Amino acid sequence: MLLGAHMSIAGGVFNAPVRGRSIGCDTIQIFVKNANQWVGKPISDEEADKFQETKKETGIDPVFSHNSYLINLASPDDALYEKSVNAMLDELHRSEKLKLPFLVIHPGSHVGSGEEAGLKRIAEALNTLFAKTKGYRGKIALETTAGQKSNLGYKFEHLAYLIKAVKDKKRLGVCYDTCHTFAAGYDLRTKKAYDATFKEFDKLVGLDRICAFHLNDSVKELGSNIDRHAHIGQGHIGEDGFRLLLNDERFENIPMVLETPKGPDMAEDVMNLRVLRGLIRKKGRKS
Ligand code: MN
Ligand code: MN
Ligand code: ZN
Repeated sequence: MLLGAHMSIAGGVFNAPVRGRSIGCDTIQIFVKNANQWVGKPISDEEADKFQETKKETGIDPVFSHNSYLINLASPDDALYEKSVNAMLDELHRSEKLKLPFLVIHPGSHVGSGEEAGLKRIAEALNTLFAKTKGYRGKIALETTAGQKSNLGYKFEHLAYLIKAVKDKKRLGVCYDTCHTFAAGYDLRTKKAYDATFKEFDKLVGLDRICAFHLNDSVKELGSNIDRHAHIGQGHIGEDGFRLLLNDERFENIPMVLETPKGPDMAEDVMNLRVLRGLIRKKGRKS
């Protein structure tokens, strides 16, 4: 399995693979700019080249991105919607400059306008973004959400709706967040529940749409709709759910990254990666 964690880009984007390597990541997720700001300093050619060098040196692969928290492609407010589409366009340019395979995004929040209106808005935004970035290799991966407040994407049907409404379907993928889907009511703690969840996902979305997994345990219970990440094995999902996922051969080549709480020394990532790797059964040995 390809395991890793979200890594800071402090001091330059080229530092992220080095940080990831220092704690034994195979793969990492990064922001392509400060996630709490609308505008970022452009990525220079030198910075982009240096990123390719450190990526190669460390062997971290893939490196993929996550969008800024400010962006809301479902916003009913025209000014905020337009600002969000432009900011997404900038993120797509940055990801492309770094040759990243996909950019994970939160679909959006309808903020009271209703789910149908919100989903329409997101579909329109995605079609605009793909039309404005023709020829780009990077995909957009819609993240499953917990359904907190008016966040969309907490039902597999929401993702299915967006895939259907988007013209350039081959550039659309999905990022499956274990904490979010669990909080949204999709269980994976037993073999039976796990199989049912992914059968449902496959029927509505398609397993082949999955670009990445976010591995987070959940502080809150099944169906709580509350997004709080716990360390692996220390939340309501527990080790059994992660064991099922980590030994599912269908996902062997899909990058899986932690987004669990951590301090600057990343000791928590080291601990969580050790727990995850401990759950993987050795090849050729039965349970
Ligand atoms: Mn996310
Ligand atoms: Mn996530
Ligand atoms: Zn979350």
